[in-house]
Amino acid sequence: MTANVNDKYTVVIGLEVHAQLQTQSKIYNSDSAAYGGSPNSHVSVITLAHPGTLPRLNRKAAEFAIKMGLACNSGISRYQIFDRKNYFYPDLPKGYQLTQDRTPICKGGFITITTKAGERSIPLNRIHIEEDAGKSIHLDNEPDTLIDFNRAGVPLIEIVTEPALRSSEEAAALMTEIRRLVRYLEICDGNMEEGSLRCDANVSLMLKDAKEYGKKVEIKNMNSMRHVQRAVDYEVERQTAILEKGEQVISETRTFDANTGETYGMRTKEELNDYRYFPDPDLSPLEVSEEWLNSIKASMPELPRELKEKLVSKYKLPEYDAKVLTQSKELAQYFEAAGSFTSNFKAVSNWLMGPVKSYLNEKGIEADQLPVAPQVLAQVIELVDSGKISFAAASQKLFPELILSPHIKPAELAQELNLVQDSDPDSLLPVVEQIMKEFPLKVEEYRNGRKAILTMFMGEAMKRTKGKADPKRVNELFLQKLS
Ligand code: ADP
Ligand code: MG
Repeated sequence: MTANVNDKYTVVIGLEVHAQLQTQSKIYNSDSAAYGGSPNSHVSVITLAHPGTLPRLNRKAAEFAIKMGLACNSGISRYQIFDRKNYFYPDLPKGYQLTQDRTPICKGGFITITTKAGERSIPLNRIHIEEDAGKSIHLDNEPDTLIDFNRAGVPLIEIVTEPALRSSEEAAALMTEIRRLVRYLEICDGNMEEGSLRCDANVSLMLKDAKEYGKKVEIKNMNSMRHVQRAVDYEVERQTAILEKGEQVISETRTFDANTGETYGMRTKEELNDYRYFPDPDLSPLEVSEEWLNSIKASMPELPRELKEKLVSKYKLPEYDAKVLTQSKELAQYFEAAGSFTSNFKAVSNWLMGPVKSYLNEKGIEADQLPVAPQVLAQVIELVDSGKISFAAASQKLFPELILSPHIKPAELAQELNLVQDSDPDSLLPVVEQIMKEFPLKVEEYRNGRKAILTMFMGEAMKRTKGKADPKRVNELFLQKLS
């Protein structure tokens, strides 16, 4: 597609993001909300909505939703009802889903995203709570569909943005920010592969000078940042081609196939259900008291942006470091923990962004699972700063060994591995003086201005100490004696 065709249209995207809340029990009863479990083992008559059973709201789920709303600067509704959304589907045991149609728990607000172009705030329409459905399982070569109701009734929040995103990059950036927020808040594990965080993307195009949005297509249930980005890219191309032919885009629901990178139509808007929403008569309305709201506000953890500011102002880290370290809550917490044992904050940051992060990435773990404790890393930094071992030896030899033996003191392990450098002037000075005595002509040349000779002196000293001398200290001694 040529560049000027793309320049003709504005891309309009709105996301509907579902996040599974990490509560112990389900949203309207006490069945376990844990992921997995043997099929249909987390299922009571209330999950199945047998006659005579009554749902009761899990207040933790509401609390988690309110936390997300506070993190997004949303207004918190003080009085809410729950609505039945009626439709038939095999994985929906009640024949309706309990959701919030007219009175979402959070209204408005925004989430700030970061892309190559910088920061931008994306306005939210709402955040509401609802229940998840069960799972239909289709096995290869089996004619029957199996149903697992364990997930039915697991609490969800649905975050609905305004149609304010303008590119697939922005859509992926918003998902990334939502994942970071829910993890900082500890309300959802953000695990997209297991489906705890998933997203529907609404996509439309309009001419650059148009006043009204075009017809939108909704792409359902994507469970990775890359899929969101690829699906939107594909959809933009597809819709551009349709509009360029002078045809109309049909409002429909589509699905994304990660294998082909294409989207496929599932159903058009005309085939959509009329959900016949009505207030659930069995659930009493939820009132959020001033007192409760205040206690939730008081329990809010530091958010990534606040923490980033703090890393810059309190620990004097460069912006870049603060940004990298706050990508993950665990990494930022590790930084602060190590920072309480050493004042060389920049060294802690370098370690975390360098050797530590490569190790974490390789193992696919977070910083709280790093075998080397923050206090121990601080000790390693002290060893380097005092010239006992070089950074190269510390990062390439000592650190990998510490991971295997995290309970041995770094200083002892460095001894054992023969990494300790000699930085004692009493033993280094004789070496320096000896070299100067053996090379009087070189000393004279140096004093006449050939400063490069120092490199040769240094090499000689390292050779004679079998590489054990602290190069910084030797360098100092030569400069002293040669001047
Ligand atoms: P519907 O009534 O079809 O469910 P809503 O107005 O409730 O549509 O919006 C659902 C989602 O679609 C929201 O995330 C919203 O931002 C997005 N959206 C609405 N209109 C458009 C549009 N023309 N193009 C892209 N996204 C849109
Ligand atoms: Mg809608």
